[in-house]
Amino acid sequence: MSVDFDTAVVGAGAVGLACAAVLSARGRSVVILEARNAIAQEGTTRNSEVIHASIYYPAGSLKARLCRRGSDLVYARCAERSVEHKRTGKLIVATSDDEVPKLEALFVAARTNGVPELAMIDAAELHRLEPDVAGVAALSSPVTGIVDAHGLALSYLAEAEENGAALLLHHRVTALDREPDAWRVVVRAGESDEEQSLRCREVVNAAGMGAEQVAALAGLDVDREGLRVHLCKGDYFSLAPSAPISLSQLIYPVGSAAGAGLGVHATVDLAGRVRFGPDATYVDRADYTVDESKRAAFAEAVRRYLPTLEDEWLAPDFAGLRTKLAGPGEGFRDFEIREESARGLPGLMNCIGIESPGLTASQAIAEMVAEQLDSS
Ligand SMILES: Cc1cc2nc3c(=O)[nH]c(=O)nc-3n(C[C@H](O)[C@H](O)[C@H](O)COP(=O)(O)OP(=O)(O)OC[C@H]3O[C@@H](n4cnc5c(N)ncnc54)[C@H](O)[C@@H]3O)c2cc1C
Repeated sequence: MSVDFDTAVVGAGAVGLACAAVLSARGRSVVILEARNAIAQEGTTRNSEVIHASIYYPAGSLKARLCRRGSDLVYARCAERSVEHKRTGKLIVATSDDEVPKLEALFVAARTNGVPELAMIDAAELHRLEPDVAGVAALSSPVTGIVDAHGLALSYLAEAEENGAALLLHHRVTALDREPDAWRVVVRAGESDEEQSLRCREVVNAAGMGAEQVAALAGLDVDREGLRVHLCKGDYFSLAPSAPISLSQLIYPVGSAAGAGLGVHATVDLAGRVRFGPDATYVDRADYTVDESKRAAFAEAVRRYLPTLEDEWLAPDFAGLRTKLAGPGEGFRDFEIREESARGLPGLMNCIGIESPGLTASQAIAEMVAEQLDSS
C-alpha cells in the first residue's frame, strides 16, 4: 500500500499536537493539518491555563483518569522542555456552613480519583493563606497549577518536528474518503478554492469546535452517535492591577461547581495578573466578544469569596468556547475518544467533546489515541 503519510492529524491545538508528538515518537510519519495560519488559536489558548488535579470528574471516567495522568505528564514535560508553569495550588472555598458538605463530597471524590496532597482547611488557615478571601472552610489542592498553554502546544510541535512530522498551516480538511486500504484526505490551502488530497493510513480528528464536522465528513452520523457538539461560551473579566486585592492561589467557589462550568473562579496568570471567569452560556455560533454588561453579575458572584471587590475594578478580558457534548441542562458527558473500526471506518480516531480538562489531559489523550490505533 502506498501512502503519503502514516497518519494525518486534523487540528493543531494542544490535543492534535500532542497526538502528533506521541504518534511520531512511535515511528509513524505524521502530517498535521491546521485550518488557521498559526497553531493553537482556538480552545488551547482561550482558557484558564489551569493544570487541573482531577477533583470534579466521576470516578473511572476518561476525564478523571486522563486528567490525573495528564497533570503528571504536563508537569514532567514543562520541567523537561522549559515550558513556563507554576504550581500555584488551588483553594475551593465554602462561603457558608451549608456548603461544607459539598466541600467534603469533593474531597472524597478527588481522593477516589487519586489526587495527592489534598487537605481540608478551616477559616483561620484560609485567612492566613489568602487574607482577602472570605470563607468558612476550604479544600486545598497544592498540585493544581498554571501553564503557558501556547508554550505547551509549542513543546508538542517541537517534539513532533524532531521526529520528522510536518505541519501544514492554512490547510482545512474538507473531505475524508475511505478507500479500500487508506484514507484520502482532501484539503483546501489558504483562501483558494483549489483542493488537494493526500493518502494516509490513519486520521486523527482533533479539530476541537470542528470535530463534529470532521467526523461527519468521514461518514459518521453524528446525531445517531450522540456526537453533536454544543458551544458553551465563557467570558472572563480581569482585575485592575491597582485594585487592593492580592491572591497567590487559584480560588474556586464550591457553590456552583455542578453547573456547565466550575463557577466564576479567580485565576492568577504567570505574570501574576488576576482574572475572573469563565461563566457559562450556550451559544449558537462562535463569537469571542465579552459582554461588558455582565460586569455587575461577575462582581456579585466574585464578592461571595472576595467581599471587598468593587464593580469598577473589573474589565472585560477575553472569551473561550467550550465544546460540550452535554446540551443545556443535560448531565455529565465524558470525552469521546474512539477508533471507529466498529463503525466501518478503520483508522479513524475521533477526539470529540474535548472540553476542560482537555489542556491538562492533552498528552494522556494522545497516549490513549496511540494505544487504540496500535491495537486496531
Ligand atoms: C473557557 C474555557 C476554559 C478552560 N479552562 C481549562 C483549564 O483551565 N484547564 C484545562 O485543562 N482545560 C481547560 N479548558 C479546555 C481546553 O481549553 C480544551 O480542552 C483544549 O484546548 C482542547 O484542545 P484541542 O486541541 O482539542 O482543540 P483546539 O485548541 O480548539 O484545536 C482544534 C484545532 O482544529 C482546527 N480545525 C478545526 N477544524 C479543522 C479542519 N476542518 N481542518 C483543519 N483544522 C481544523 C482549529 O483551527 C483548531 O486549531 C477550557 C476550555 C474553555 C472553553
